[in-house]
Parts: sequence; structure tokens; C-alpha cells
Amino acid sequence: MGGTEQRYVQEAFDTNWVAPLGANVNGLEVDLQEYNDIEHCAVLSSGTAALHLALVMLGVQEGDGVLCSTFTFSATTNAIRYQHAIPVFVDSERDTWNMCPVQLEEAIKGGMSKGKKPKACILVHLYGMPANIDAIMKLCEAYEIPLIEDAAESLGARYKGQKTGTFGEMGIFSFNGNKIITTSGGGALVSHSGEYVEKAKFLATQARDPAPHYQHSQIGYNYRMSNICAGIGRGQMEVLDQWIEYRRAMNLWYRDLLEPYPFISFHSEPSADYFSNFWLTCIEVSDNDKGITRESIRLGLLEDNIESRPLWKPMHMQPVFQDHPAYMNGVSETLFEKGLCLPSGSNLTEDDRNRIMRSLKRILD
Ligand SMILES: *Cc1c(COP(=O)(O)O)cnc(C)c1O
Repeated sequence: MGGTEQRYVQEAFDTNWVAPLGANVNGLEVDLQEYNDIEHCAVLSSGTAALHLALVMLGVQEGDGVLCSTFTFSATTNAIRYQHAIPVFVDSERDTWNMCPVQLEEAIKGGMSKGKKPKACILVHLYGMPANIDAIMKLCEAYEIPLIEDAAESLGARYKGQKTGTFGEMGIFSFNGNKIITTSGGGALVSHSGEYVEKAKFLATQARDPAPHYQHSQIGYNYRMSNICAGIGRGQMEVLDQWIEYRRAMNLWYRDLLEPYPFISFHSEPSADYFSNFWLTCIEVSDNDKGITRESIRLGLLEDNIESRPLWKPMHMQPVFQDHPAYMNGVSETLFEKGLCLPSGSNLTEDDRNRIMRSLKRILD
């Protein structure tokens, strides 16, 4: 927490606007619009809810194919399955670890050759790293496939100076407890189109038609963010850029620390076009004559009571999603085998960093 969150929550209590809506909900939406330089925003109960609504609004239905980064967290793919649509998994490129344009075009052509052009594309900016957006957008435009950006992990990241989440038809953010800022649980949907965002607000509040009684002509959802959670979010927006600075400083610190070990490489910005929020610092451990592996580093840290985690297990390898079409080049599987997320919290102290340093040196030397 940054410190001012409780003030906004207190205001909600003082004015008795606890739930559902209120000044904090409106305030957080304006904050997110200004921060991301986008015209429209709806705050919602989670990032997953935002993804689900985006697919509903694009008319994704049972049996439709939806292109999706395989290297992601399960929530991205779950939203596709909520519509009984079929995820079409697309592998990563080496540079950004995000969706590979070459595999994407294969996947589009593969669907079209079976008479099933994909209905939408969900592009993930994993660990805060912007994807190769120009190349992906070019393909989506050429084949007229609407793009949804899953920017759950990349709030504040930029591509050619523009914030991730603002390139496609719609973008989503998450404020879950593990993300760069949190509302304890929550998400947002942003768009340059007011129509999508108004529709999202309508669907997220049980699709109630304008009438004095309760009248419904569509299936709705209970997906809106409460005024209490939004109050936490308003306080968090005040510290977001500072948190990004901490995360980026942490990333630099690890780069200096691990420089002497050539078998360790980092998830890195490929050029000055990319600005990552470095939500997590991630490394890849290549084969080396010391016999050090991703897993030996993870277990070594654990011996010192320091938690680290393997990178996301790709969705096409998950038991629940393994029968869906997948356009693969081996990159995400290699990253899963050799990759590790290091402790990256915005609140790590100097003592914490010293402990991590001693532990890593012990393991690697
Ligand atoms: C966290 C996350 C989500 C889901 O957001 P919630 O707010 O937890 O529902 C979706 N996609 C990615 C890539 C995420 O990391």
C-alpha cells in the first residue's frame, strides 16, 4: 500500500457510498483514463471478468476459435471457455517471450483453411513486457480480426511511447493482489470506443434495461467493482509510477548481480521501443558446465526460505486445455523448462536484497 488508500475508503464510509457504485468508482475510471491516455474505462470485479465481457461484446460464441498466447496465466484462456469457444494457442517469439507473429499468421491461415476464421485474438503482455505490437496489429488488421490486449500484468508498460492495453479494440487490466497495484481484487476494461465501455457497464450490472421495474432482455453479469475496492485503487494510482520505478530498479540490481554468470540471461526489452514495468524479473538458465539449472536455483533459494517460481506453464501443456489447436515453435516450452521468476516485490528492503544476494552467490559459486 502507498498510504492514501485508507483516506479514499474512509470517504466511502463517511458518505455511505459503500456499494455498489460511488465517487471512487468514477474517480478510479477517470484516473485510469488519464494515466493510459484513453477515452473510456469501466472498473470491474476482476481482470478475468473484463476479458469475459470483451469476448461477449465481440459476439464470441460456442465453437468459435479465439487466438490466444499460450504463454500466459490460465485466466486468459478460461475466459474463452466461459463462452464455450475454442482457444487456438499461439507460441511465443524469442525476443519478447510474447505472441510470435509468424505463428499467429500460421494459426489464422490454419483456421481459414478449415473454413473457420478466428473470431478474436487475445494478446498478452507477459510479466509487464510489451508484445511485438506493430507486427501483431498488422496481421489482425489485414485479416480483420479484433484484438483484445490482456494487459493484466503490464499496467504502465509502453510500446513506442503508448501504454499497453490501448492499442486493440479493447484492453484489460487486473488489480488482483499479486499485480503491480491492487484493489484487493479487481480489474478494468478500457477502449477508445465509448460504445464498448457503456455496454460493459450495462452487462456488468445484470443487464438491467431502463425501466422503473426490473426488466431484462439480455443475460447479464455481476461484474462491477465496489466503491470500497475502487477507493483502494485510487490510492494505488498515486504510487503506480513509483512502484514501476522500484520494479525496474530491482531488475537492474539483478542484472548487475548476475552479470558474472553468462549462462543466465534476462527477459529484456528488445529495443528502445519497449518499456517494461518489470512486474517480475525473469531469468532463463541455459545449459552450463557447472550443472546449475533453473530447478537447482529455485531449490537453493528455498533452502534459505526465499520463494521463487518457474515461469507460467504454457496453456497448451495444461491438462485442461491440451486438446485444443496449437501453433508451436518450441519457445514457450523451453522458457517453461529453463525460466525462473525471482523475488520482485515493490517493498523488498535492503535486508531482503542482501539475503537474496547471499543466497544466489552461494548457489551459483
Ligand atoms: C492476473 C491475470 C489475469 C486475471 O486477472 P484477475 O484480476 O486475477 O482475474 C489475466 N491474465 C493475466 C496474464 C494475468 O496475469
